[in-house]
Amino acid sequence: MMPRDPFADDPNDPASFLSDDADHMEPLSPEERIHVQQDLKLVEEFKKVLQPRGIEGIFFMCEDCEEFHYYDWDIMAANMRATLAGELSPVHEPSVQPNVEAYVPWDYCLGYLDGLESR
Ligand SMILES: [Zn+2]
Repeated sequence: MMPRDPFADDPNDPASFLSDDADHMEPLSPEERIHVQQDLKLVEEFKKVLQPRGIEGIFFMCEDCEEFHYYDWDIMAANMRATLAGELSPVHEPSVQPNVEAYVPWDYCLGYLDGLESR
């Protein structure tokens, strides 16, 4: 059992005073929070099985920039932890000069994990 966030339902969460309007982020709904926690678990799984095979992280097409972004496993996990903590994650700060061949799409990782588990 995870300890319950004491500010989960509190509109006066002190953390909300720390960000100005430009950085304002809507609090996660309980469903979103569960979703991010699941993704975080997956990232840790992906890292465990794919990093030994030379895969360094995930890439995806960013709709804002219209270019691919590359994220190391640890950066992905840090972004998700920031999201769970109610902080804005630095979505547009991908890895510097990534080796693009060492990054795979999220769906590839899901499929890879499925393949391992069905053996
Ligand atoms: Zn972007």
